[in-house]
Amino acid sequence: MQALRETIVATARELSASGLNVGTAGNLAVRTADAFLVTPTGIPYADLKPEHIVEVTLAGEIRDGELRPSSEWRIHRDIFIARPEIGATLHAHTPHATALACCRLGIPAFHYMVAVAGDRSIPCAPYAAFGTQALSDHVVGALRGRRACLMANHGMMVVGIALKDSTRLAQEVEFLARLYCLSLQIGAPVILSNAEMAEVLERFRTYGQQSNDS
Ligand code: 13P
Ligand code: ZN
Repeated sequence: MQALRETIVATARELSASGLNVGTAGNLAVRTADAFLVTPTGIPYADLKPEHIVEVTLAGEIRDGELRPSSEWRIHRDIFIARPEIGATLHAHTPHATALACCRLGIPAFHYMVAVAGDRSIPCAPYAAFGTQALSDHVVGALRGRRACLMANHGMMVVGIALKDSTRLAQEVEFLARLYCLSLQIGAPVILSNAEMAEVLERFRTYGQQSNDS
């Protein structure tokens, strides 16, 4: 558990260093046997220490930790309950994804790599105040069948099997958001059809190094 706490702190610091999060914005969590570890609320990532990470049960009770958990602990908890395959969750206020979310725009199939989040688009979940059950319900709904969504007037949420998957996806989603903002500035990006995106999703199933490759 100590190693996992250290990895969470290192990941959080990396997000800050790479400009994906500023100040105390964002939070991340990793599933444990019957609970999850989550960053504490209101602590800038630069000051974060492994002992600050809070363990919260899926019933929403603090099992271990001196500090209060992230105000968004409900979103992390609700995703872990709704999605048994997910082991890591990450919320960030990255600049381009958040700019789109402030216009209540999702990311349509303007680029084939949108399929990296597992679907034809990355939608924007409706607005609710931070830290509320309503926001959690909106986010869990928007994530159904995919691994990323934007959050209206707020930021983004991504999920992955493991911590490295969710951090990589957060970077990919921010990059796609940046490209989409640039495309909108040039003119009207051409949106790939459902059939074209279905083909991409199919190709992604066998993309990259396969475990049985020598
Ligand atoms: P926490 O510091 O409580 O994790 O909140 C940051 C945030 O991004 C709220 O949405
Ligand atoms: Zn937030």
